[in-house]
Amino acid sequence: MMTAEEYEESLRQLNLNVYMFGERVENVVDNPIIRPSMNAVAKTYELAHLPEHEDLMTAVSHLTGNRINRFTHIHQDIGDLIKKSKMGRLLGRETGCCFQRCVGMDTLNALSIVTYNTDRKYGTQYYPRFLTYLEYVQEKDLVVDGAMTDPKGHRGLPPHQQPDLDAFLRVVEERQDGIVVRGAKAHQTGAVNSHEIIAMPTLSMRQEDADYAVCFALPSDAEGITYIMGRQSCDTRKLEGGSLDQGNIRFGGHEALVVFDNVFVPWDRVFMCREHDFAGQLVEIFAAYHRQSYACKVGVGDVLIGAAQTAAEYNGVEKASHVRDKIVEMNHLNETLYCGCIACASEGHREPSGTYCVNILLANVHKHNVTRFPFELSRLAQDIAGGLMVTLPSEKDLRSPETAQWMEKYFRANPDVSTEDRMRILRLIENLTLGTAAVGYLTESMHGAGSPQAQRIMISRRVNVAEKQRAAKRLCGVDT
Ligand code: SF4
Ligand code: FE
Repeated sequence: MMTAEEYEESLRQLNLNVYMFGERVENVVDNPIIRPSMNAVAKTYELAHLPEHEDLMTAVSHLTGNRINRFTHIHQDIGDLIKKSKMGRLLGRETGCCFQRCVGMDTLNALSIVTYNTDRKYGTQYYPRFLTYLEYVQEKDLVVDGAMTDPKGHRGLPPHQQPDLDAFLRVVEERQDGIVVRGAKAHQTGAVNSHEIIAMPTLSMRQEDADYAVCFALPSDAEGITYIMGRQSCDTRKLEGGSLDQGNIRFGGHEALVVFDNVFVPWDRVFMCREHDFAGQLVEIFAAYHRQSYACKVGVGDVLIGAAQTAAEYNGVEKASHVRDKIVEMNHLNETLYCGCIACASEGHREPSGTYCVNILLANVHKHNVTRFPFELSRLAQDIAGGLMVTLPSEKDLRSPETAQWMEKYFRANPDVSTEDRMRILRLIENLTLGTAAVGYLTESMHGAGSPQAQRIMISRRVNVAEKQRAAKRLCGVDT
């Protein structure tokens, strides 16, 4: 397993084509806007080497018997699924942001199921090919960006009827040695911190859309791939020097648009090519795993609750009964989320390939709660913090000889707490609920791993309402 330092060094060896603010980023690793997101991924390496976290952060490979980072592991039993949820909470609490590596883990697990099922139907060789690739990822301890979401163009039209046929990623040429693909993937979490990128279809596909039923892996710096970094609210605070105004002084996340401009993929890295009837299965299983992964938000919720309690103490209101009640409410909501990600893992099952998959209904219910509860947690944290959270002057004003005395005098509350510490905790709440980390804690909670409606569709498909009706009718004497 790589150490955090080795991971950073491995990223320096990549030759990524990255753009931000209209310019090419020559040094991705040390760029002050991107760096915090690399720090967050590095935590997944660092914790794997600590004895106290070995059980959650590592596993034994079912392929080689070697100890590997859990982010490259294929779940072998229910215990693995539960540990995955606990690992997400742990890392969310350690980083206070999106640590990006779950998408690749979820992609690998989904492919371990779907490539096997495809081979059984079509006699293809995707599963053995996938296992060879998996062993490479496990042994090298790589970060994989699982890329699902296409730009999608006109939402009312299927891929093959789009005005621009590249609105969904597709196969544009099939050759003896591989395929050529063109298109893009949007909102790609952690893209430029990844060694590998696995593209998957974003929807179920019909025969007419077979060119779009494609799944493949590429090194992240393959010829023809371009990354365009997404902006985050308050992102340029990272360029101002100092740290206080960033709120989270070390960690962050990032998303990017990833463009594939006629990129060649050799056959040994192709895991689906036009088997359109398996696109929907891959989407559904990947989505279920990734909805479970929103255990991460429970860990970030832990940080927000800790920050709200601290802000209450720094403001001197922690004993007020309504404040205590709000903290209880925050914990209730956060632990309810925890119940969901543990439940879908505990109710998991074995797929024909041997991989354990989460309970798909419960994973969707969990993620659906995640589209709501962090917003209420944020509202309560902002209520407790007070308006100063968004009206505070900058760190530079706190340091300036002209203004420091007024800042010290008028922003002091609890005499046992320095003005600077009070500012720091308020800035952290701002960061989580309005700033760069709100991308992960709020908007990603809403839309990541599928927007709320996607979960409602899955819930409606997976519940047995007829059985519930029979139960009701039986109890009141209606013939069934
Ligand atoms: Fe992982 Fe959560 Fe980030 Fe998704 S949002 S990549 S589940 S940390
Ligand atoms: Fe996500």
